[in-house]
Amino acid sequence: MIRLDDPISSLKGVGAKKTSKFNKLGLYTVADLLYYFPTTYENRKNLKTLNKVRHNEKATIIGKVCGKIQEITTKNKRILKLPIQDNTGIGYVIFYNSSYLKKIFKNNEKYYFYGNINIINGEVQINHPKFRNIQKESIEDFCSLTPKYPLINGLSQNEIITLQKKLISEYRITIKEYLPSYILEKNKICDINYAIKNIHFPSSSRSLKVAKYRLVFEELFFLQFGLLMIKKNNTESNNGIKFDMFPQVQDLIDMLPFKLTNAQVNALNDIIKDMTSPKGMNRLIQGDVGSGKTIIALLAMYLSCLNGYQSTLMAPTEILAEQHFKTFENILKPLGIKVGVLTKSVKDRSKILEYIKRGKLDIIIGTHALIQDKVVFKNLGLVVTDEQHRFGVRQRSFLKQKGYNPDVLVMTATPIPRTLSLILYGDLDISIIDELPPGRKHVKTYHISPKETEKLYNFIKKEITKGRQAYIVCPLVEDSDKIDAQSAIDLYENLKDNYFNSNKLGLVHGKMNSEDKETIMKKFKSGEIEILITTTVIEVGVNVPNASIMVIQNAERFGLAQLHQLRGRVGRSSLQSYCFLISESNSKVTIERMKTMENTNNGFIIAEKDLKLRGPGDFFGTKQHGLPELKIADLFKHVNILKKSQEEALYIVKNFNKLNSNDKEALKLKTENLFGNIYNDFTI
Ligand code: ADP
Ligand code: MG
Repeated sequence: MIRLDDPISSLKGVGAKKTSKFNKLGLYTVADLLYYFPTTYENRKNLKTLNKVRHNEKATIIGKVCGKIQEITTKNKRILKLPIQDNTGIGYVIFYNSSYLKKIFKNNEKYYFYGNINIINGEVQINHPKFRNIQKESIEDFCSLTPKYPLINGLSQNEIITLQKKLISEYRITIKEYLPSYILEKNKICDINYAIKNIHFPSSSRSLKVAKYRLVFEELFFLQFGLLMIKKNNTESNNGIKFDMFPQVQDLIDMLPFKLTNAQVNALNDIIKDMTSPKGMNRLIQGDVGSGKTIIALLAMYLSCLNGYQSTLMAPTEILAEQHFKTFENILKPLGIKVGVLTKSVKDRSKILEYIKRGKLDIIIGTHALIQDKVVFKNLGLVVTDEQHRFGVRQRSFLKQKGYNPDVLVMTATPIPRTLSLILYGDLDISIIDELPPGRKHVKTYHISPKETEKLYNFIKKEITKGRQAYIVCPLVEDSDKIDAQSAIDLYENLKDNYFNSNKLGLVHGKMNSEDKETIMKKFKSGEIEILITTTVIEVGVNVPNASIMVIQNAERFGLAQLHQLRGRVGRSSLQSYCFLISESNSKVTIERMKTMENTNNGFIIAEKDLKLRGPGDFFGTKQHGLPELKIADLFKHVNILKKSQEEALYIVKNFNKLNSNDKEALKLKTENLFGNIYNDFTI
């Protein structure tokens, strides 16, 4: 008996070598193999006779070998030409560079041939076809929708097909249904065994569709169900920290040089409500670039501090961590709060670790370095991740585990449509800051050609004499043989000796050590540097309100979300700001992107457009967010199924206790399998 959790190596014909190849594809068990789905299919159902085939169609022909195979050598190819016949005529099978096939075909025996047909001067040729002796395979089996698996890592498609066939037809492996039957009925979804059989070996295009629907549905369903269950557990358990409210928070708000926007006040109230309840907080603050998220995090962390708890904020780059550290120190040091910073290259590291452990620091700002084993907190009450889209769920969860059920606050500037936010942030409550501080002006954006740079540089010079500052972002750090794009080092050297020889220029990029980076950023912030030549190290979070010009070199090399983030470095005060996108690319997608940037400053509109232009694979991928990878569902293509599965997931989470124990157990098992290695302590 073969069981689903048996290792692949227990199958006949799978030795150690093949097992390791399967393992490299991430396939270990029989179940893994069954859930390794084909991405496309060859339609070998187009069975034709030699007199009916058309030029350039794909067809299957049953032909009898009627002569010797010929070998023809041309300049760069060795061709094999095999004569075949059926009742209607004669044709030739052509193979390229495949001398190993010379002795395979037996005269007078019949084979199936599937491939592309060429008719050259009346001669029917089948180009490099798939073939099989008809005694070895039934016509139904050969002339089918034949699966093609995505990555095969040195295994042949045939090897995978043969194994799948064995599991399904010979061993007749059956899977116990794990979706409640009412979901199947209501959504007209087939059962799992039909789905598995037909996703690998569809009996028709219709049955393939039915199978695929089920598998897409369940994939999206379980992802959302799992996340919603996590959220439910969080909200229902009363084992979070119950913070007290302190009037000092309002005092600090009153001391700020600006008045909080209504949207900021609402977000802060959501946070305070969460923090002062005995339930754990798991909240996402989503607010466009420049909407003022930092101060909200600071106020929440101050409240944690007033309650005698430490808090920590994790940022994706050292530059951003340093910047936040300075902002926090400026505001909180006068109030007697001790703020520290921890990055991988911070100087007095062991002293800082000691301070964190002994509770001598109240607030710790840092990078990924915060989630290392060595970092031990005394009493962590609140953890914040800034620019969450740069981190995975897993890193967020690691940070949380540094304390005993601390409250969790997550911030992101990347707006996404609601259906998708339920997927990517399904375990979080969401507050949206949909308002910019007053007086902000629309950043005027222009797509220009490299020929216009001189004009642009003159404009920058003029703005600098008015006291403004500029960023020039390059796609590369240094020149590369392989990529034809502007490098920051090269541009810096060039500009400081030529156009801008009377201005103060600075250079910052990711290959510099953090001390140098910090010095340059400090000088830019203070205005000592007027033009900062840089790479995407400044993409997220950097806040120099006096900078009003953003120039992006080779703008075609950046996605919309990235361009929007980069542009978000300017327009952070009431100064009129400008963004110049330099690109000479004529590609349709590039031009569409540039137009979108010129037409709107609104992150939501840009996100929707981004989704349309490149599909969700790149940016909205679950994998980047550290969630289970989607194997068959596509967040963009399957929006309708996404919505239906979302409804069912929401319903089941609410009514979980009303399910019968069989359904409960089955859902639980499947979900824990999916999330087990992401959330360390995931249970339903
Ligand atoms: P982001 O949401 O992109 O992280 P920041 O928190 O860095 O934005 O804020 C951008 C700038 O706006 C900062 O200089 C900050 O001090 C300022 N700011 C924040 N809130 C307000 C407000 N309500 N009024 C005016 N300026 C504000
Ligand atoms: Mg920010």
